[in-house]
Amino acid sequence: MDALDAKYPFFAAAREAVADAAVSLPELVAADAPAVERGRERVERALMDGTVESESGAFPGESDYDVQAELLSYPIARILVSLLDSEPAIEKYAAAEAATAVDRIREDLATDDELRSVSTPTVALDDVLAEFDLADAVRPESARSGSGTGSGSPGRDPAHYRIDVGPYLRLTSPSWGESWRLVNRALADGAVRVSREELLDALEAAVEERVREGLPFELAAGEGIAAELEEGVADLKRLLSDRSYAGPVDVVAPELFPPCMTNLIGKADRDADLSPPESFALMAFLVGIGMTPDEVVAFCADTSLDAEGIRYQTEYLQDDRGTQYPPPTCETLANYGICHNEEDHMQVAADPLAYYEKRVAAADEIADWRDREGGGDEVEEEADGAAETSETATTDEAE
Ligand code: SF4
Repeated sequence: MDALDAKYPFFAAAREAVADAAVSLPELVAADAPAVERGRERVERALMDGTVESESGAFPGESDYDVQAELLSYPIARILVSLLDSEPAIEKYAAAEAATAVDRIREDLATDDELRSVSTPTVALDDVLAEFDLADAVRPESARSGSGTGSGSPGRDPAHYRIDVGPYLRLTSPSWGESWRLVNRALADGAVRVSREELLDALEAAVEERVREGLPFELAAGEGIAAELEEGVADLKRLLSDRSYAGPVDVVAPELFPPCMTNLIGKADRDADLSPPESFALMAFLVGIGMTPDEVVAFCADTSLDAEGIRYQTEYLQDDRGTQYPPPTCETLANYGICHNEEDHMQVAADPLAYYEKRVAAADEIADWRDREGGGDEVEEEADGAAETSETATTDEAE
């Protein structure tokens, strides 16, 4: 277990170091070891500030830096974020781990060879590329052109690289801007030209993908490590719900929904199953615009979505101010293949809710679905049906 493992805890070597150390996480948690508090801080900082950097600022090589606590705080944070049981929290956590990691990589690459030391370990770009199986897919441009060093060999940190088109498409998104579209890129011999900063953006996506892998863990609530971490999880949930929230737009105008949501509703209408991210995005949007669980059930009555699943998901998403967790951003939806950025309207807003709010604000006249013939009635029927089902269940149980 060394400082580099603690600095990049998602690297394969760090995972091996944790396994080799044979540390029992339940025992660590039961003993309230420093890694537990640091794990909680890691998640809190990720959700609130978009970074997992410690507030104390302790860094590898400094006297108060606890390598073991720092490294083990990563698996603890993964458990905590799993227990939050929230897709946006996982998303935000993974993004924060990736953003912090890339800041560190950037600093490492800027560190001169002579200044590198064992106490402040650094990675080289080749190590990072190898970590993500990109060693053969990414080449410094000077290696091909023979320019940049004057000797025909590649410079250590050339300004541009070539990345094979497959990894380029996997790790980047047109939602990042026009310049990321393949048609706007120099493409030769199956490789795309990127600047060093752009390569770091792609690596950030690779880290995020790695961190997300396997999350959330399946943990039985109220048992074992989940029970021990209950207090920390409650604190984090409180923090999340204390976030300021402007309130929902509270008007249901399906014709003004953004294309991503219309497409998802269309897919469910055709009786096709929605993937978990698709269904989460749709539910978070419908709750986000102010619909109650009964209204969402009624709205989705003739689709492939099942009423019980909708109720479970929407009740969890909703608090008394509307939605507790906003729908994923356009960028995330693009990464999931849910957004196709029709007519480049991603320029208009950062997430589907914001886009819808703008369309509602710009509309002259709006007929709320809830006031339309059938809309409100369907809600009442659904609510009556749910009440009858629960009454029947209660009677059956009593008998
Ligand atoms: S840009 Fe945003 S709002 Fe528009 S379709 Fe994509 S995800 Fe939806």
